[in-house]
Amino acid sequence: MKWSQTHLFTLKEAPSDAEIPSHKLMVRAGLIKKLAPGIHTYGNMGLRAIRKFENIIREELEKSNCIEILMPMVHPKELWSETNRWNEMGAGLLKFKNRMDQDFCLGATHEEAVVDYVRHELKSWRDFPKNIYQIQTKYRDEIRPRFGLMRGREFSMKDAYSFDMDQAGALKAYDQMYAAYQRIFNRLGLNYRIVQADAGNIGGSQTHEFQLLADAGEDALLVSTKTNFAANVEVCPAIDAVPYVSKETTMKDIEKFETPGQKTIADLATFTNVPANELVKTLFYSANEGNNPKDVSLKAFAVLLRGSDEVNPIKIKNFLKMANEPRMLTDAEVLEVSGANPGSCGPVGLKIPMYLDNGLQGFKNFIVGANEDGFHLKNVNTEKDFKQTAFADLRMAKDGDKCPESDGTLKSFRGIEVGHVFYLGQKYAKAMNGVFLDKNGKSQFYEMGCYGIGVTRTVQAAIEQSHDQDGIIWPKEIAPFHVHICLLDIKDDELKSYVEKLTAELEAKKIEVFIDDRDERPGFKFKDADLLGFPVRVVVGRKGFDAAQLEVVNRKTKEVTKLAPNEVAAKVTELLK
Ligand code: ATP
Ligand code: MG
Repeated sequence: MKWSQTHLFTLKEAPSDAEIPSHKLMVRAGLIKKLAPGIHTYGNMGLRAIRKFENIIREELEKSNCIEILMPMVHPKELWSETNRWNEMGAGLLKFKNRMDQDFCLGATHEEAVVDYVRHELKSWRDFPKNIYQIQTKYRDEIRPRFGLMRGREFSMKDAYSFDMDQAGALKAYDQMYAAYQRIFNRLGLNYRIVQADAGNIGGSQTHEFQLLADAGEDALLVSTKTNFAANVEVCPAIDAVPYVSKETTMKDIEKFETPGQKTIADLATFTNVPANELVKTLFYSANEGNNPKDVSLKAFAVLLRGSDEVNPIKIKNFLKMANEPRMLTDAEVLEVSGANPGSCGPVGLKIPMYLDNGLQGFKNFIVGANEDGFHLKNVNTEKDFKQTAFADLRMAKDGDKCPESDGTLKSFRGIEVGHVFYLGQKYAKAMNGVFLDKNGKSQFYEMGCYGIGVTRTVQAAIEQSHDQDGIIWPKEIAPFHVHICLLDIKDDELKSYVEKLTAELEAKKIEVFIDDRDERPGFKFKDADLLGFPVRVVVGRKGFDAAQLEVVNRKTKEVTKLAPNEVAAKVTELLK
């Protein structure tokens, strides 16, 4: 393809709303253009990369006997009501009415649609197993779309759904998809980790995320220094590397003392001269999930943890088997429940459930708020001064914590979630009457799994992980083109015909060639070549041609090889091996 024949306009400067390198580079290289927040047009170069990634996915999934279909993007309300997700999905599901006043939504995920697709035919044990996938545009009305294709509202996802007769079959399907995902992401040659994750409101129990490592990633990951253990911080067990032992030996009598204006843990640590990791903070939440609008009761509960620790709302949600993360109480509600404003609250005298983080095990004679503004209590002890409802792991794990399965420690990374595999069990089959007759003629619910890959997100994440100050460094497998020829003397017929011959020779080997035939200065063309970042650049100018010194440049290493015209094709081929 020739530059003059395509629609490609590069930018010197990134737009001000592009915060991370990959977003800046994608816009500058003309790969994407914003139409509205979270909604983008994919330019030809962007689309070529996306299509290549889609084809890698297709090839690997077909090896695992998955079959491709394409489901609608517009879904009727009735379908989503069958699983109650019309309500549960919240505002992320974009809902609208048609001219007949009927309710619809845009597909944010397709569990309901795929069960509806199969449930009339998948009737006998002979029909199993099945694994069905599509590559399709999803719409999620994200609150804060950002970072270009990383968190879009409209984006492309590969979603697959497995159907099996029993749990053993479903777990086998899960393992096969896990392996297919490894093959897919290995082909990109990128640095990724497979981590334990939270199942969110998709439901199900076993789940792993595929995370590309990058500083700009939105997810915090913890990876063992010793074993394969890796987890999203959302679900990572928090275990101190050195177990806490209190210096106190006997329980003392409780004492109230004045702490005027000491509102934060940092204030209190300075004021009392007790380090934050030995102070105890009390946080308040509501267990009312608001599914029943008539139920406006507060259902307050408290969570206590060390002053230096951060609470993990997903662990609370999972521990209390809630559908969503709990809501923190407002200051007014805290006052109503405890009698004091946040900053002076504590467990003594509270009449609500109290969950203590495991980090407080062994704490003796500690300081807590007195439930009276400007006062705290010292020498407080569990059992003696208040009764906890339960101890549980409710805090965020952090860098340096103990590895849960060895004597190693955990190291933290940032990750971009590019893929997610879930074992769903019978949740959707039960909600949507997905039944079949087993070998004994007995009616059974089938078992499902669902498996997503963020297609557009992965393409951008690849750039986030592979670029330098000059531009993109494409992994060969998804590079829009393999070779970028900078034709410097565009009116020179001999050079033009050389470039045509070279192109034909390379294309015969399935090497894709892009020719910059614009009437521009060499330096300008080289800058654009670096920005676009195809793996190999060839510079064809009169001087180099005559001196048998044509430059072949490796985009990644910037290494330059100077060759005679008839040696160029072989070198390019070698670099692309
Ligand atoms: P996130 O936690 O990032 O919001 P998710 O866990 O809700 O994502 P899944 O339902 O697991 O997403 O969707 C499967 C895949 O789709 C994700 O692993 C991710 O790669 C991609 N994806 C999800 N939301 C978006 C989005 N807003 N923009 C681009 N890709 C997305
Ligand atoms: Mg996910």
